[in-house]
Amino acid sequence: MIWALALHGGAGAIASHLVQRDEAHMAGVLDEGASMLANGACALDVVAAMVEALEACGLHQAGKGSAPNSAGKVELDASIMDGETRRAGAVAALSGYLSPVQVARGVMEHTSHVLLVGEGAESFAASRDFARVGDPANYYTPAESGAAHASGTVGAVARDTAGRLAAATSTGGLQGKLPGRVGDTPIIGAGCWADRRAAVSCTGLGEYFMRVNAAADVSARIAYAGINLDAAAHAVIEDVRALGGYGGLIAVDGDGNVATPFASQGMKRAWATGAGVREVKTF
Ligand code: ASP
Repeated sequence: MIWALALHGGAGAIASHLVQRDEAHMAGVLDEGASMLANGACALDVVAAMVEALEACGLHQAGKGSAPNSAGKVELDASIMDGETRRAGAVAALSGYLSPVQVARGVMEHTSHVLLVGEGAESFAASRDFARVGDPANYYTPAESGAAHASGTVGAVARDTAGRLAAATSTGGLQGKLPGRVGDTPIIGAGCWADRRAAVSCTGLGEYFMRVNAAADVSARIAYAGINLDAAAHAVIEDVRALGGYGGLIAVDGDGNVATPFASQGMKRAWATGAGVREVKTF
C-alpha cells in the first residue's frame, strides 16, 4: 500500500525573501516524515511529529513563531484527528506549552473530551507534564511580524502503509486577534478532519473556514457528490473564496492521492508519496 504525506506552513501573504529558507526547512521535515511512513509508522504518529517539528522551528505563525494577540499574549490553538477511529483532540487559547499539538493528542488519548480551552487546557497539560516554554517573553519569535495578513498555521496529513489516515493542525491564530478569539484550527471539521475517505488540514482566514466547515466538507463532497479528492478540495476553497475569505488546505485520500488547493498569494506546502513524488512549493 502506498503511503502519502503533505505538510503546510500557512497560506496568505508570504514574504518572498523568506521563501528559500522556509522551503529548505520544510523539505527536511518532509523527508523525515517520508522515511517514518516508508518504515511503517502509523499516520497519527507521523502527523503529530511533523506538526511538532513545524511548531518548534519558529518559521511559521505556530508554536515558537507565534505572534501575540491585541493584549500582547500568545494564545495557541491545535487539533489532531485519527481517520481510522475518528477520535479527535484539540486545545484552544492555550498559553505556555511547547507543543500544542501534543497537548491536543493528550486530550484525545487521556480524556473523554475533544476540546479543552484556556486555563482548563493548561491545567490538563500541567497534570500530564507536557513541556512548558519557560519564559514566554523570551521564547516566542514572531515569524512574520508586521506583514499584512501574515499567516503561518502549520498542518500535516498522512496515509500510512496500512491505509490509515490522520490530520493535525496548529496555529498562533491571526496576529493581533482579540483575546479569547478561537479560529478554525482547533475546531474539528473546520480546520482539521480525518475519516477513512480523507484527511484535511486548513489554513487561512479561520472565520471563513468555520463558516463553510471546510475540512469535513472535503470528505462530505467525496461521499455525497461522488467526486474525487482534488475536485472536492478545490470546491471547498472556492466556497471560502466566494464568501470573501482566503486560504488553502492540504488533503490526502484513502488511495494516497494528494490535493493542495489555495486561494491566496501563496501557501507554504510540501508533499511526498511512496510512488516517488516529492514537491516543495510556496506559490
Ligand atoms: N486559520 C488560522 C486561524 O484563523 C490562521 C492561519 O491559517 O493563518 O486561526
